[in-house]
Amino acid sequence: MPLFDHMDFDAHEQVIFCADADAGLRAIIAIHDTTLGPALGGCRMWPYASDAEALTDALRLSRGMTYKSAMAGLPLGGGKSVIIGNPRTGKSEALLRAMGRSVERAGGRYIVAEDSGTSVADMKVMAQETAHVSGIHDKATGDGGQRSGDPSPATAYGVFTGLKAAVRHRLGRTDLDGLTVAVQGVGNVGGHLARLLKDAGARLILADIDTPRVTVLARELGAEVTTVEGIFDAAADVFAPCALGSVLNDDTIPRLRCAVVAGAANNQLGRPHHGEEIRRRGILYAPDYVINAGGIIDIHHERTGYNPEKAIRHIEAIGPTLAEIFARADTEGQPTGAIADAMARERIGKRR
Ligand code: NAD
Repeated sequence: MPLFDHMDFDAHEQVIFCADADAGLRAIIAIHDTTLGPALGGCRMWPYASDAEALTDALRLSRGMTYKSAMAGLPLGGGKSVIIGNPRTGKSEALLRAMGRSVERAGGRYIVAEDSGTSVADMKVMAQETAHVSGIHDKATGDGGQRSGDPSPATAYGVFTGLKAAVRHRLGRTDLDGLTVAVQGVGNVGGHLARLLKDAGARLILADIDTPRVTVLARELGAEVTTVEGIFDAAADVFAPCALGSVLNDDTIPRLRCAVVAGAANNQLGRPHHGEEIRRRGILYAPDYVINAGGIIDIHHERTGYNPEKAIRHIEAIGPTLAEIFARADTEGQPTGAIADAMARERIGKRR
């Protein structure tokens, strides 16, 4: 399994392989860049088919976090961790505590948070072994209520804000009334997003491998349900990928019928050249790590004294950031992802 020659290595500062035989832990912590601050990123638990697949995921996600925090204007670097295992059957207190000890050994250069396959409750277990945990504290909401540390609602709100900016740029519309949005994956983020879209007057087409989950939500929102494969062919104005990565690839791009791709999933492009393929087809792609930064913005505010209004204003800045990327992409005739990468590198380069 190559590391330094890995296609996604991209000059990672540090990659830590973690194991605890007694607890059954096999995990990787990838720290991409700490120029702007400590590397903050979620811990994903997934039954990867191979160690190589887990490493690729960790490297790509970690690099994405560097760029995400830079574009969100945060004093944070990029990192990510993956636990190799099934989150439904392979999780135990011993395993989570062992992961907490692994995070602790990184000495604060990596700060862990929840991600697909891990929860706020899991982070609280890890917090028994390390102080370098985020996304665990209850927070005040703008309307006087309380919500858990789960960053998903903030991520969904950021995607909603960014999706509106993309619709404005590509379709010249300032509202979503009557537009059709196809949401792939209605988990923590996709479910919240679907509700926000419904409230804004959008028509919804939903798909999820979890049939009971998608059926219940569709009934609640009066949405159409399609198959996991059929979502790529859906007749929708916007496609919102909110499941897993690499969904925009050679097989799926020719099938898309939408004008805009704007969703929460990380690493939506199979490979970087797919950004150009999407642009060539006249589809506007909202770069994943820019539009899905609401969660990390929320976590940053949690770490620095939570003020709901301030956090929301910061999340809403995702819209203008995307508008700047879209305008520059038009002027330079470049894919939006390439422009976002260039802008993130400019910001990191200035600090260096
Ligand atoms: P989640 O696990 O709660 O939800 C994912 C949903 O996708 C689940 O309902 C799952 O059944 C479904 N799914 C899986 N494979 C599918 C497929 N092939 N087709 C259709 N549905 C499928 O995860 P989440 O927290 O909602 O995150 C969703 C995506 O957004 C992930 O890629 C995650 O990395 C990214 N993201 C999440 C956050 C956050 O704050 N939670 C922040 C940034 C990015």
